[in-house]
Amino acid sequence: MILNVYIKNNIDPFSFNSEDRNPTVDRLTTYFNSIVAGTSWSCTVNFVAALPAAVAETDLVCYLAMGRSASTLKNFAHADPPQTPGWTHTDGSGTAASEVFYGAIPSFERQTLLPNLIFHELMHNKAGMDNAMHHHASGLAAAQIFSVTPLTPQNIEFMRSRLDTPRRQWTLG
Ligand SMILES: [Zn+2]
Repeated sequence: MILNVYIKNNIDPFSFNSEDRNPTVDRLTTYFNSIVAGTSWSCTVNFVAALPAAVAETDLVCYLAMGRSASTLKNFAHADPPQTPGWTHTDGSGTAASEVFYGAIPSFERQTLLPNLIFHELMHNKAGMDNAMHHHASGLAAAQIFSVTPLTPQNIEFMRSRLDTPRRQWTLG
């Protein structure tokens, strides 16, 4: 089985620094490789301008928007984004969507904090959990994420135990 992680870039090319792309993909690839290690899963991390026609229910999608006013996830959540650098919404049917705001991250931290924030939101997404996830959480599951926040063994186990759990992704953002 393959876990495909898609980061859909909704930022115009004049605002997005393309030098931030590969470090983001590399760090997330390292994280997800740690999760699938020792399982029958492998993973890919893809930075895309458009999502593929078929996104599997075990795949994960995180949208990248410049700021809250440019959010596409608000069209799914039917609510304005909170004052946080990222957010995740799960609807009543269990479909989930995640989004991170590039403009909310200081430019000098984007290559480290951006992938950390994406991973944090994808933990909410995969688990279908709101802020309850932060309770007694370590590392990248904690309420506040920094560029130096580590992926902990608990974070790895949290995601590894859910690899087989379907979580339909909202793909219209
Ligand atoms: Zn959170």
